[in-house]
Amino acid sequence: TDLNHIRNFSIVAHIDHGKSTLADRLIQETNTVADRDMKEQMLDSMDIERERGITIKANTVRIEYTSDNGDDYVLNLIDTPGHVDFAYEVSRSMRAVEGSLLVVDSTQGVEAQTLANVYQAIEADHEIVPVLNKIDLPASECDRVAEQIEDVIGIDATGAIQVSAKTGVGIRETLEAIVNELPAPKGDADAPLKAMLVDSWYDAYLGVIVLVRIIDGKLKKGDRIRMMSTDAVYPVDRVGVFTPEMKPIDELGPGEIGFLTASIKQVRDTRVGDTITHEKKGTTEALPGFKPAQPVVFCGLFPVDNAEFEDLRDSIEKLALNDASFSSEMETSAALGFGFRCGFLGLLHLEVIRDRIEREYNIELITTAPSVIYHVYLKDGSMIELHNPADMPDLSTVDHLEEPRIKATIMVPDEYLGDVLKLCQDRRGIQMDLTYAGSRAMVVYDLPLNEVVFDFYDRLKSVTKGYASFDYQMIGYREDNLVKMSILVNDEPVDALSTMVHRDRAEMRGRAMVEKLKDLIPRHMFKIPIQAAIGGKVIARETLSAMRKDVTAKCYGGDATRKKKLLEKQKAGKKKMRQFGKVDIPQEAFISALKMD
Ligand code: GDP
Ligand code: MG
Repeated sequence: TDLNHIRNFSIVAHIDHGKSTLADRLIQETNTVADRDMKEQMLDSMDIERERGITIKANTVRIEYTSDNGDDYVLNLIDTPGHVDFAYEVSRSMRAVEGSLLVVDSTQGVEAQTLANVYQAIEADHEIVPVLNKIDLPASECDRVAEQIEDVIGIDATGAIQVSAKTGVGIRETLEAIVNELPAPKGDADAPLKAMLVDSWYDAYLGVIVLVRIIDGKLKKGDRIRMMSTDAVYPVDRVGVFTPEMKPIDELGPGEIGFLTASIKQVRDTRVGDTITHEKKGTTEALPGFKPAQPVVFCGLFPVDNAEFEDLRDSIEKLALNDASFSSEMETSAALGFGFRCGFLGLLHLEVIRDRIEREYNIELITTAPSVIYHVYLKDGSMIELHNPADMPDLSTVDHLEEPRIKATIMVPDEYLGDVLKLCQDRRGIQMDLTYAGSRAMVVYDLPLNEVVFDFYDRLKSVTKGYASFDYQMIGYREDNLVKMSILVNDEPVDALSTMVHRDRAEMRGRAMVEKLKDLIPRHMFKIPIQAAIGGKVIARETLSAMRKDVTAKCYGGDATRKKKLLEKQKAGKKKMRQFGKVDIPQEAFISALKMD
């Protein structure tokens, strides 16, 4: 296809504003997929994405469209994830295209993720076409929302397209705007090959699949390609495009987006943002590189049944093949046995991986409390990165600690602003900005990441009845008065319950945790003290009183089957417990104990 008849674009939106539905309509209107093969949310391929209605991996589709001007165009849509955890994936796929559709729900208006994503598009120099969606709903207010887009984002929204991705109104206009308002890609077919490695993933049948954007030159089956960052050379087995199924084609030229396979063994052998060229007569100038995404949240994953440790290792290795931003190392815990300390981009990423292990590999897991990476400066001048509070060095050797901070942007209707400010204040936030856009406030806070990773988002949703939106970015490390708090059950420290807390809040947190644990741990035949301690000093204490009778005692008489059933039930319940010393701790305690309400 000649460059003038190609348009590459992405869709940016806040979650639930209709990005996937709009993509479906664009695919359907252009007959890219036969009606009988059309499913909802075409581009969201993984089951978990479908169930939760979120898009995780960037997905791509090539759409052929005959414009009202009579010409045939190829439109390449790269769908990007909408969740904060995956901001990095958004930014890299943005660099592979020239324009964006900015979708805003006309019943809601601009939200925090609208802002975060549109700023990424602006940073990638995109031409932006605003689209007001859900105009079929009575609450739709196109004029107000267009004005808000101009006020808050600062782009011209007078020509915004009014769309209902549900009924199909405005879809044709959207396709015309893509052709007429977005720029064609630039590139030189006769120059040496220069292609951007946008993404890669593992496919059970084809091995590693590499999503590429060709900048200059041509890529064909049989070519020998070189990855410029590693100098590794591979013969290309296939090149093709996504329709959205993978369809082999003969060659990819400048401006095009497609895939290649080349017997690459693992996803780790590919670097996102790398430049791909030919082994011989290749280009000498690489594209500006990307930094790999770094995990920021860590937690332990342990099999409920210790016998499943090897299966867990296997599943983690398989998942890591497909996800370079997920890290793991073996960990042993006195309370939980053998498991893995795993690193994630954020809490959603953690949940997705945990769900996949449980569901696809059928392994029941105990997940320990998520923690961030602390920088521990020792008296000898060295610094260690602490991924697990249980590894905190002896206090006498520690000089000071630093913790990661974020800049959080929250948008919220006026009436909930007070609750949001209180929540941020309670989480040790420092207010940086407060502005209004219509009846919505936009507040910016500097917050410790560790106060956010756990349940901040849930709390925010609940105090604002779901009306707040939230986005964040890392801003760096800062010193604070942080200590390790240990929990002792029946006088023994339970390593998996250790947490890092701010000294000023330690008493409050410790009290809350021991009270929670008192409810979560079932009674035993003996009395169980539950304590929170800092460096040997107990700061909070509860006592779980002893149980009087055997569970079966209450079925007097000789109902043997009922007695047996009860005992079986108790045994099944035990599987979900961890024996610690003489005490059984249920697995949900390891997470629930940390929730703050
Ligand atoms: P995404 O999170 O941005 O991908 O949003 P989805 O495409 O999954 O849409 C979120 C919800 O809004 C779904 O329940 C859609 O059916 C609904 N939706 C999307 N577009 C429209 C529309 O134009 N009108 C109405 N009434 N609902 C829509
Ligand atoms: Mg979606």
